Amino acid sequence: MTIGFEVLARDGAARRARLMTAHGALDAPVFMPLATTGTVKAMTPESVAATGARIVLGNTYHLMLRPGAERIAAFGGLHRFMNWPYGILTDSGGFQVMSLAARRTVGEAGVSFRSHLDGSLHELTPERSIAIQHLLGADITMALDVCTLHPSSPEAVESSTELTMRWAERSRRAFVERPGHGVFGIVQGGVDCDLRLRATAGLIEIGFDGYAVGGLAVGEGQSTMFAVLDATACALPEDRPRYLMGVGKPADLVGAVLRGIDMFDCVLPTRSGRTAQAFTRRGTVNLRNARHADDPAALDQECPCPACTGYSRAYLHHLCRSGEILGSMLLTAHNLRYYADLMAAMRAAIEAGSLADFAAAFESSQ
Ligand SMILES: [Zn+2]
Repeated sequence: MTIGFEVLARDGAARRARLMTAHGALDAPVFMPLATTGTVKAMTPESVAATGARIVLGNTYHLMLRPGAERIAAFGGLHRFMNWPYGILTDSGGFQVMSLAARRTVGEAGVSFRSHLDGSLHELTPERSIAIQHLLGADITMALDVCTLHPSSPEAVESSTELTMRWAERSRRAFVERPGHGVFGIVQGGVDCDLRLRATAGLIEIGFDGYAVGGLAVGEGQSTMFAVLDATACALPEDRPRYLMGVGKPADLVGAVLRGIDMFDCVLPTRSGRTAQAFTRRGTVNLRNARHADDPAALDQECPCPACTGYSRAYLHHLCRSGEILGSMLLTAHNLRYYADLMAAMRAAIEAGSLADFAAAFESSQ
């Protein structure tokens, strides 16, 4: 028994689905807040759960370097270590090795690199990445991939996509089946739709519990991203979850759900919460802006989060201008609640068969 997946309703290409993991059910489309180093920044696990989140994303690269996967395993795994009783997806570490580590060398066996923390030498192979994610106790494990930066030459994209395929096969073989746990393959291929389709077919041949689309939202622009999704999402199995990695802005999520994506993660709601940017039902608000200094109104009048029910824009503005920690806490809680509510609204619209109307109303509200 791997993770369970059931499509409950369809509206065009969009799906309203439910995943069953070892740590509970997930209603999809679902947004997964980042708990990169084993914490959602500026939030307690209780406040994360209060936003409606039932799964967070931990990071193999960061956790293997500090505090170490074996240490977390000795404490009973990441769920217990960070006191989070719901789902955890861990990424494979591939993306962070490419973006953070120094002096990295990619070879057939894996990638060797120096830690961005202390310069120590490490090696990450597909087998080691899967073993680390097992030590962490992830409900959903990601296969190790090679993420090419955009733009790259067609030859570089093709060779890294092919290496990702070979690593996917090794990752799948290294994964230890347990009830409620699954492993996802990652479709790479840059903005080349033919290469994406080849990669998709290859991953389906290997057979994964879910399929991720990686390497998008790296500077190619929203219309190109949607074109790649139009070509890729329909080629993914109907009866398995589909995860768009590292995406995105609220409008990206709406567009991707319309194209059949079930799962998302992104740094935006949490990072923005620490830089005075709030997502609201009437667009993005910069709380550092002086026009909020005397405003008694709530940040978002329809939002039930602590920031919107307990405080004025003037007070939130004051916290942000003063660099107070409470400003980061309240705005992160608000942004995560906004993302969770956006996903819940899309689930309801799919059930009602009105997602296209929802998307049109969303676009005119921003
Ligand atoms: Zn709010």
